Amino acid sequence: MIVMKFGGTSVEDAKAIDRVAAIVQGRQSQQPVVVVSAMAKVTDTLLTMAKAAGNGERKTALKLCRSLQERHYNCASELLGTARFTEFHSELGSDFENLDELLRGISAVGEITPRTTDNVAAYGEMLSSKIVAAAFEARGLKGIHVDSRDVLVTDNAYMQAVPQYEETNLRLKERVEPLLSAGQVPVMGGFIGSNRSGITTTIGRGGSDFSAAIFGAGLGAERIEIWTDVDGILTTDPRVCPDARRIKVISFDEAAELAYFGAKVLHPATVLPAIQKNIPVYVLNSRNPGCEGTRITTRAPHSKNIFKAIAAKKRITIVDVAAPRMLLAHGFLKSIFEAFDRHQVAVDVVSTSEVSVSLTVDSNQAIPALAADLAKLADVKYEGRKAIVCLVGENLRETPGIAALVFRELADKKIRMISQGASEINLTFVIEEDEVPEVIQRLHRTFFAELDAEVFA
Ligand code: ADP
Ligand code: ASP
Ligand code: MG
Repeated sequence: MIVMKFGGTSVEDAKAIDRVAAIVQGRQSQQPVVVVSAMAKVTDTLLTMAKAAGNGERKTALKLCRSLQERHYNCASELLGTARFTEFHSELGSDFENLDELLRGISAVGEITPRTTDNVAAYGEMLSSKIVAAAFEARGLKGIHVDSRDVLVTDNAYMQAVPQYEETNLRLKERVEPLLSAGQVPVMGGFIGSNRSGITTTIGRGGSDFSAAIFGAGLGAERIEIWTDVDGILTTDPRVCPDARRIKVISFDEAAELAYFGAKVLHPATVLPAIQKNIPVYVLNSRNPGCEGTRITTRAPHSKNIFKAIAAKKRITIVDVAAPRMLLAHGFLKSIFEAFDRHQVAVDVVSTSEVSVSLTVDSNQAIPALAADLAKLADVKYEGRKAIVCLVGENLRETPGIAALVFRELADKKIRMISQGASEINLTFVIEEDEVPEVIQRLHRTFFAELDAEVFA
C-alpha cells in the first residue's frame, strides 16, 4: 500500500480536488490511503475565528464561519452534482451548526484555551476529508471517509500533541487495513487526532505531512507521497528566488535540516517515522503530476555541488544573555535553559562565550516575560526582525574551506551567530530579516550556477 498526502493548495477548490481524484485513480492498484489538509487558508481562518470568539467578538466569529460554510458548500456542490449534494448538504450543515455552537460557547465564556482552539482548528481537516471522500465516490473511486480522530491517538498537549504510536498503529490495523483489503480508498484528515479520553487534539501547524508519515509507518507503506504545489523540494524557496531548481534526490537528514530551518515544503517531523522504517518519501506536484518530483532516501548519492539547498527562517529574535558575575559558574546554562523551558520558548541556534550566551527563538509574545525572568540571572537583551539562513548538504562533512566561500559572498553583510550544526551537514547563520531575499539570491547564484545533473533537474 502507499500513502498519498495532499496539502492545502492541492485541495483548495473543486478543480484542485478533481485533479486529486484523477491522480489517485491512477494509483488505485497500489492500495492508496489518502491524507488531506484543510483547504488552503482554512486553518488560518479557523484560528482567527476562535480568537475572535475568545475576545467575545461573537458576530465577527460567526461571520467568518458563514464565509467558510459558503466556500465548502460551493466546492461540494460543484464536485458532487445536485442529487449527491442534497444528501451531503445535511451532513456538512450539522458540522457547521456544531461549529457555530462552539463559537457561541467560546464567546460567552470570553476565553479561548488550547483545548477549545484544537476543537475549532480540527474542522478544516474534518470537512476537507469528507468532501474529498464524497468526490471520489462520485467519480467511481471507492472513497471512504475515516475520521482521523478515531485513529491517531495523541497525548494531551493540545495544539502540539505527541502521537502515541503503539495505540495508533493498533487502530490503523483495526480500522484502516480492513478497508484496504476490501479495495476501498480510505480518505483521512491530516493534522488532527484525539487523546485517550477521545478529546480532539492537533499535532502542530503543517502537521498533515506528519500524519501521512505516521500512517505510512504504521501501515508499512511501500512509499509516502507528499503532493504539493511545486515540483518537489527545490534548491531554495521559489518565491524568494525564481531560479530555484528541483532536487531529484535528497537524504532524509538533509531534508530534515531544511524543514527545520524554514523550507516550508515539508513538516520537520515528517521524515522521522519514515526514516525509522526506511520508507521512501516523494514530494510531488499535484498541478504537474507527470513530473517525477523529489525522492527522499536514507542515503543521498554523491553530488558534485557542495550544497543541496538553502533555506531561511524569518521572524527570529536573538536573545543575548551576558553574565560577567557568573563567569564560568557551574549550572549557568542549565538555569538559562530552564527559563526557556518554563516559558515554553523553543531555541534554534545557540552560541556561547565565556561570559555570554546568544540564542535564537521564534519571535513570539512570550519573549518579554522570558526576558524579565532571565534578567534575574544576568543582563538580557533581545532583538527581533532577524532571520536564520541555512545551507544544507552532505558534502559539508568532507569539504574544507566552505565557510570562507560562503562568507566571501557576504563580505558586506552583518552576520551573526555562525554555527555548523551538530549534524555536520548544515552551515547556519543569522542576518537581518529584510536582507533575506538578497542574501539567498546571491548565495544561490554562487552555489547553484552549475548543477550536477545526477542530483538536480
Ligand atoms: P502544502 O499546502 O502542500 O502543505 P506548503 O505551502 O506547506 O504546501 O509548502 C509548499 C510551499 O513551500 C511551496 O509553494 C513553496 O513556496 C514553499 N517552499 C519553501 N522552500 C521551498 C523549497 N526549498 N522547495 C520547495 N518549496 C519550498
Ligand atoms: N491545515 C494544517 C495547517 O494549516 C495542517 C497542514 O496543512 O499540514 O497547519
Ligand atoms: Mg505543508
